[in-house]
Amino acid sequence: MLNLVHAAFTLTLLASLLSGQAVEAVNFNMLLSSAAKAVRFTSITTETKSSNPPSLGELRRKYSETFKFSGPRVKQIALTFDDVPDPRFTPQVLDILKIHGIKATFFVVGHRVEKHPDLLKRIYREGHQIGNHSYSHPLFKNKSVNEFQREILQTERIIYQTIGIKPRYIRPPYGEINEAQLKWAKKEGYRIINWNVDSLDWKGLNKDKVKQNILKSVGPGSIVLQHAGGGHGSDLTGTIKALPEIILSLKKRGYQFVTVPELLQAGKPSK
Ligand SMILES: [Zn+2]
Repeated sequence: MLNLVHAAFTLTLLASLLSGQAVEAVNFNMLLSSAAKAVRFTSITTETKSSNPPSLGELRRKYSETFKFSGPRVKQIALTFDDVPDPRFTPQVLDILKIHGIKATFFVVGHRVEKHPDLLKRIYREGHQIGNHSYSHPLFKNKSVNEFQREILQTERIIYQTIGIKPRYIRPPYGEINEAQLKWAKKEGYRIINWNVDSLDWKGLNKDKVKQNILKSVGPGSIVLQHAGGGHGSDLTGTIKALPEIILSLKKRGYQFVTVPELLQAGKPSK
């Protein structure tokens, strides 16, 4: 049994890595709990041969037009900022983007828009793309499709009341989503946007670490995950300090910064 436990844990980790599984704000406890689930599943499936729920990697392949982790391999990069609006960090990120003439994509949390509607108005007014990051930032993986719909539609309503648009792009908190939710999103014409470059900035990393995490793995068509908002005690100073240097370094390498829809549209004939 010990071997099985170990194997399942290793497999879970490996599968996460191989599938490019999005790990936002993951912690060791979460990994342990998913390993424990995998063990339970393995124990059951050895007897019943019932199938595991598909991994994020499998869902990405099965729903490749809806579920995106990156764009086509063009010399463009989409910077994305989650958990906004937050008056502590979002204005500073917006100031930097404005100085450098860059448009990014911001994934907004409904309950934060209720508190800071003017900040969402500013993001939108300055030409950035707006995406839906749920109302209360839950882990959707184990929730029902109804709960997913409620969170997405509630936030959509709040965004619409504030700036008059309905975002077509959803980023599920922690990058986690299940197949039923993905099917609904596809049917309704949404796109689910994860990332293939993770700054891990939510950990409160310093400027150099944030910069290193991004620059070491960024490439043509990358979608980069950063934050411009956070919970109590979160410190995004590293992100804010690193941002100008990341922008200059990537511009020097010949990259152009675009929003997520622009990146996904790259290489396709314009409508
Ligand atoms: Zn988030």
